[in-house]
Parts: sequence; C-alpha cells; structure tokens
Amino acid sequence: MTYAQYMKDGLKFWNGYRADGLDFVRSHVEELTRLALRPETRLPFAVEGMRALGPITLPFYGESLSLLAPRELEVLAGEAVTLLRRTERGSRGAAAAVIAHASLQVPSVLTPHLPELFQLLPNEAAYYGEWPWRGADSSEVARLGTVARKAEEPPWHLCGFLVGARSDEALALAQRLFAPIDSPRLDRVLRQVGRELVDHRIRPLTSEAVFHVVFDDDYLRVDYSDPEHVWTHPTLLAEGLPAERSPFGGVLAERCGRCATPLARLLELSAILPELGVHSRSQVQFATCLWCQGSAEAPLYFSHDESGTPASLPEVRVSQPSTRHLRLNETVARVQRTRQRWRFQDWGLSTHRQNLHRVGGEPTFIGQYVYPRCPRCSGRMPFLLQFDSWLPLEGDAFLHWGGEGLAYLFWCDPCATSATFVESP
Ligand SMILES: [Zn+2]
Ligand SMILES: [Zn+2]
Repeated sequence: MTYAQYMKDGLKFWNGYRADGLDFVRSHVEELTRLALRPETRLPFAVEGMRALGPITLPFYGESLSLLAPRELEVLAGEAVTLLRRTERGSRGAAAAVIAHASLQVPSVLTPHLPELFQLLPNEAAYYGEWPWRGADSSEVARLGTVARKAEEPPWHLCGFLVGARSDEALALAQRLFAPIDSPRLDRVLRQVGRELVDHRIRPLTSEAVFHVVFDDDYLRVDYSDPEHVWTHPTLLAEGLPAERSPFGGVLAERCGRCATPLARLLELSAILPELGVHSRSQVQFATCLWCQGSAEAPLYFSHDESGTPASLPEVRVSQPSTRHLRLNETVARVQRTRQRWRFQDWGLSTHRQNLHRVGGEPTFIGQYVYPRCPRCSGRMPFLLQFDSWLPLEGDAFLHWGGEGLAYLFWCDPCATSATFVESP
C-alpha cells in the first residue's frame, strides 16, 4: 500500500462520519482503532480527519492525536497552519484542536510557526489560546519584546505569551515589562504556569519532576468494551520501572478534625520526595477526609510529625468517632516517572481518557489557579499531587470528588504542612 492509498482509507472513514455522524463511528470502532493506531495509517487518518471535520471538534479526534509520533505531529501541525491560513475565524475546529494538542504535548513543533500563529490566533477565544508560546525560543521571545516596546503600554496578552513560554529569559522579560505596570496582575498571570511573584522575584510553586500514579486496570474497573476506551492513553500504561510503590486506599488511625471520621489514606512517599521539593521529612503519609474534602476557598489542613504521619489542623475537636462508611479500595499504586510528552496535561482537553492521577509538575486545574496559603507561615503552598475521579470505593461505588472533579494536595516544606481541596466543573 502507498501513502496515497492510506489517505483514501482515512478519507473513506471520514466520509462515512460526515454521512452518518457518530452512529457511523459506533458501528466502525474496529476500523477507527486500526486507522488511528497503526503507524502507517495514523498520520493520513489524522490529516484527512482534520480536513473532513472542518469546523467540528470531536473529542475522540483530539485524543487520537496522542497516538501520533512527534515527527508525525510536526507534519500535521504544518498542515494545520496551512489550513488555518485559508479558514475564516470561528470555523477552525479540527485544525485549531491540532494546534491546542500540539502545544501541550510537543510545543517545539509549533516554534517555526509562532510568528504566523501570532497573526492567525487559532484558539483566540479559548483558555488555551496562548499555549503555542510554550514553544517560544529565544528569537521568538526577542520578537515579542520588540512588539511590546513598540506599543505605548505593552498589551497584557503578550504577558500571557511570555509567561507561557516558561523559560528564564521569557519570565525575566515579562517581569521587566509588566511588574512596573501592575505587579498583582502579573502575579495572577504567573499562577497559570505554577509560579508567583514574591519580593520582586519569581518563585516556582511546582516541581520540575513529574510522575504519574498508575493503578491496575482491574483496580480501576475499566470497561474496555466501552467505545470510550477504544484505545488506552499512553499515560495509563504501566510502562517501565516505577520510581516508587505506595499503599493506597483504606483508612488511617488518625481522624478528621471536623467530622472525626478516619482519614482516607492517599500516597505514602519517600524516595522521590527531594525531587518534589520535600526536604523537611524523609517520608510522608498523605491523607484527606472524604466527607469534608474542602474547597479552594476552605482547604483541609494537616500537620505532619517527624515520621510524616498527618494530624488534622486544627486538632480533633469531635470526640465521638463517626460510624459512617466511605472507603477507597485498598491497593498498591505505582508512581512512575512521566515521559517528556506528558509533563503537561489539561483537564478539558483530556476528555476523561487520560490519566490525571499525577505527582509533581503543574496541576491540571479545572477553572481557577489556586495555591492555598499555609495556616502557619501564610506563604503560598506549592503543589504536590492530584487525584482524578472514578477511584473505586468499597461496595461497588466510585469517588467523584464533588462530581467529576479532582482532589489537589499542596505542601509547605518549612512547616511540614499539607493542604487538600477538591475542584469540580
Ligand atoms: Zn471530615
Ligand atoms: Zn508554612
């Protein structure tokens, strides 16, 4: 078979989709899987899909881009820019989705296109419109600086582009240009990339090291006959050696200070703690209360003793132990070092197909970029780990963290204090 024939194969599928919509996809799941997965068909399938879908965005199309090799994503991104050039704003669905996913997974494939994307702004109205600048190199940073200095006052969208690049030189330039105008606003923009402005310095609130928590399929009770799971996302695979194994689920002897229910056992980490910026303890047992959970406005706080064991802050006030029963199933989780490509993920673009049980790196917030204040020193607490919904509970139920939400955990190292809260859409 030649490339042209694979293109025809891909086109046939997408014509079927155009005629019968998702019914066609549901009755051709096997073909979809074959076309999206096989090394010889996946690029033509993605190129034809982008052309056929036009203004439409389909979650499974976006997710199929995760299966492309970086070199293939580079070719597709080039095709997307060509298509965007002749597409009117507002009708850029699939090509714009290609740019969004590429900017998360392999931003360097967009670097040569940034000056043109600056004009095209394919995802202008979306929260991820600035993300292609994650791939900004030195010359693009310098170009943005020139554009900013030409204006009477540098426009704030350029602050988003510079901060999004995350490099030291881009952050320093953003500080030089925007701190004198409105430093609280610059601080808020920095929060979007896991940083803050304190005492005229930019400080990270996230670690460089990133890990995924990988659970067994039978623990998560994944139903592979469900068309939602026609392929397994790379972040769900238990590839390679785990950096650490940890007991997960069940309860601890310690109780919640608000409701007196035993605390839910989350991860217990030791070996990877220094990489996560945890130096005051050599081992930490992380926990939360499934009943109280907390919110971004009112997190739950825990102090950790010398052995890393948590105690509710403020201390337990309720003396009568609760008889309520809500327990995560017990298992041993693999905490695995994350490949470069999945260092950044996004809750919205992951469409419930990716593994968002993460340790370190930047959190995948749903709506707001909140880093709670430490109750002891009142500094902002760096992010440490997060858990997605659909964790199994004892008795055939699942945990949804307030409704398809996520639980986030933060850590103040000098105070050996953790905070947890839940955010849901
Ligand atoms: Zn509680
Ligand atoms: Zn503190």
